Order: sequence, then C-alpha cells, then structure tokens
Amino acid sequence: MRRAPPSSRARAALVRALRPAAQAIALIAPLLALSGCSINPATGEQSFTAFMSPAEEREAGRLEHPKILKQFGGAYDDAELESYVRRIGARLASVSEMPDLGFTFTVLNDDQVNAFALPGGYVYVTRGLLALADDEAEMAGVIAHEIGHVTARHSAQRYSQAVAAKLGLSLLDVLASAAGTLTGATDAASLGAQLYLQSYSREHELQADMLGIRYLVRAGYDTNAMTSFLGAIEDHSRLEATIQGRSEADQRFSLLSTHPRTPERISQAQRLAGATSVPDPRTARALYLSYLDGLLFGDDPKYGVRRGREFVHPDLRFRFEVPEGYALVNGPERVVARHPNGAAIVFDMVRSDRVRTVRDLASYVGRDWGAKLQGPVERMTVNGMEAATTVGSTRVRSGEVDVRLIAIRERTDRIYRFMFVTPPTLTARESLGLKRTTYSFRTLSAEDAAAIEPLRLSIITVNPGDSAALLAERMPFERFRIERFETLNGLAREAPLTPGARVKLVTGGGSRVPY
Ligand code: ZN
Repeated sequence: MRRAPPSSRARAALVRALRPAAQAIALIAPLLALSGCSINPATGEQSFTAFMSPAEEREAGRLEHPKILKQFGGAYDDAELESYVRRIGARLASVSEMPDLGFTFTVLNDDQVNAFALPGGYVYVTRGLLALADDEAEMAGVIAHEIGHVTARHSAQRYSQAVAAKLGLSLLDVLASAAGTLTGATDAASLGAQLYLQSYSREHELQADMLGIRYLVRAGYDTNAMTSFLGAIEDHSRLEATIQGRSEADQRFSLLSTHPRTPERISQAQRLAGATSVPDPRTARALYLSYLDGLLFGDDPKYGVRRGREFVHPDLRFRFEVPEGYALVNGPERVVARHPNGAAIVFDMVRSDRVRTVRDLASYVGRDWGAKLQGPVERMTVNGMEAATTVGSTRVRSGEVDVRLIAIRERTDRIYRFMFVTPPTLTARESLGLKRTTYSFRTLSAEDAAAIEPLRLSIITVNPGDSAALLAERMPFERFRIERFETLNGLAREAPLTPGARVKLVTGGGSRVPY
C-alpha cells in the first residue's frame, strides 16, 4: 500500500518546531556548516549527507520490514495487544510533525529488550521490552523516541545495528568464511557488511529524545516516564550481565546498544525541549498491565527454549548443553553460545531444500560446508546418530581462529550442525567442554517435549504479608529469583510491597527443570 508523502506544509511546520532544538544542539555540537551542504528538512541542521527522498525512505522500509520480522521471531501473535500498541503509537504520531506519514507499529516476538525504527515510519518494540515497562507512559516514551528518529529522518541504515547485534561481528566472519558456499552464508555475508554501521550518535539520540518528549507532552504523558524506564532497562541489563556471567560493558543485546543514552542525557533533552509539566498526566498502569497478563516471557518454544546451559527444542525434539561460562543466544535461524574469552558455539540445521541433496555426510562436511578449512574428515557416531567432523583454521577480522565443524544426521531429512570457534591459544583448553557439548546432543521423547511449556507473565495482586522473596519463590527460575522479580517490577532491593498493588510474576515452564 502506498502512502502519501508528508505535505510541504507539515515539513515547514517541523522545521519551525525544531528550530529551537537545532539551535540548542548547535551549542553543544559544533556544526560542520560549510557552503554546499544540504539542509535536513526535519531538524533544520546542515549536513553533507544527501538524504533519501520520502518515497525512497518508504520503499526502503517496505523492503526491510519482512527481514526484520524474520530476524526477530515475527510479529507477536496477540491481536488485542497489537491493536493497543498501535493505538498508542497512532496517538503519538498524530501529534508529531508528520501525522500523515502512515506509521506502522509492530510488536516483535523477541524476548530481548529492544526497539527501533525503519525509515518510512516502521516502528518496532519487542515483547521483552513490553514485559519490562511498568505502565503505558513508559511504553509511550519508547515509541515517542522512535517516532522522533523517523521524523528527524536519521540515517536509513541504523536499524541494521539491531539485526547485527543478534550475533556479533567475528562470528559472522566465521560463518561467512568457513561456510563457503553453503546456505546461510549469503545472509551472513550481507549481515557482515551491515555490521560496519554504528548505533545512533549522541546527537541523534538527543534529537530523538527532544522530539519524543515533545510528543509525550502533547499526548498528555509525564515525560519523566522516559527516564524511569531507562533506569529499568539499565537495571535489567545489569542483572542479565550478572546472570550470563558477562561484563556489563558487553551490552550488545539490548536497547542500550542501539540507542546509547543515559538518564542524565534524557534530563538534558527535557531541559532543551523546554518540557512543561503535564497536568494530571496519563500513566494508565492498570490498563497497561491488563494487556501484559499472559504475555509470553523468555523464549518462544516454537524456536526452542534455553534453560540454564541447556537448549531444548520441543517441536524438533532435541536438546544439547553448552559448557559452563557460555551464554546462549537464541535466534530464529541459529543458536549462538559465546564465552567471554572469545570462544563460541554456533548451532543450526541444514535448510530443508538443501538437506535432500546431501547423500554422504562426510563428503558434505569435507567438500561443501568445510571446503575452505581443507582439514581431514572423520566419520563418527553421536548417541547412535551418523555424524562427521572436520577441523581447521581460518582468518577473521579479529585474527586467526580454530574451527571445528560437526554435522549430525538425526534422520534422512534433518541434519544438525555445530560450529566451534576458538582463539588458537584456547583450543586445547576448551576442547573437552566442546566435545561434551557434541555428545550432549540427543533426541527428546514426545513426553519430554510435551512437558516444555512457555513462561508467561501473570499479573497478580499483592496480599498482606507478601514480600518480594515470597512471591519470587513462585517463579520457575533456578537462580536470581528475587532480583528478577524486583527488576521486572522496577522495585528497589528489599523494598516492602504494598498490599493491593498489582505486580508482574513469571509463571509456567511446565517441566520441573528450572530455567
Ligand atoms: Zn534512539
């Protein structure tokens, strides 16, 4: 469906609206103003970059939209939640300088806390982000910020940072170089090119915040919701880092990497935007939480679930376990486990249209998948299943790495693959753990598979005598139960609960194996 381009009147209004903002930015970031450069119609700033036309932007967004859906687990299947998010998005877009752009708002079926926008008005929030937000105002703050990136017409390419963040740079190098001509390699290679792009600049973040704050005020929300939610995201990110045993600085998998911001900078944006306090601001907490009741939490079993170091796939009926210290990242196309020391495991399966052409597994591993490694190929058996392996080394951007490939044929039309990547100095040390991972791969009985149910959010009312510790006991996690409960609900450590208040709890899971 084609959408009408914004009218020149709306553009002119936006330029006027943003003039004070642009002047403020000019004070903190020296303009590279020289003759011959173009004027950004949204912000009034001068720029050397030739901007895409609105029609080109919409076309770019339309082409990228399906790719985003594919990378982030598709649109989340909940018509009521979707239309609620759409309503809030439309209300904010209607008070922006481009009310006629024809924004679309999508909830992605992804448990990471993230949000981003494509040119042409495609705005995305993940269900992981919705689970963390505490009320409608916090969600609106995120959406308003994304609308700000669109109306300010920030670089058309930035979204790819979010896509790339799913995996990480050096791994994609390996996928591309070791996989040779195999399926997936093209995807990986094209993703690799996008990895050079950076996240939004501080100036763009400040602009998006200033615009977002403007839209929040106009739509009747308290602009402090932006700061409070950023605090919640920081707490969440810190806890995730602790749980996964990685450094806090490694925040590749969160909103903080695609949108580098701090609460201080949001306050600065509030001041620069001249945000006025909104009388009787809308928070709509009860309404917001009612939409979260029953929300899928964590992994969608459709794509397999992580339980501690274990990865279980109830639909395909298999499981494996990674060694201590590896953090699992579950993507729609592959599972990646990374160790802070640089070692990594990539697990995927040979695509169905390709698998039928694989007659001999050993020659597939030696001549096709691992052709570039030129290593010796060994046939082996993994828990009764035919398997083949090869080994070698390859160059990636960060230097030389050792690679071991293992293909396991579970049945005629199903081949699973492990790729173990280690810096050469660590190969010997990691080899035992990686071998154990290989032999931990086994099929699941129908009964075991059926016992795996998704985690869901439940909205419950605090009873007199309830404490965070007591309620957290009901969550099916092995570790950090209280911390998870407090972070999910934006509560301070060991803060007492108010009887009658509504809080979020993670429930379900089915099997007795803790998450
Ligand atoms: Zn941003």
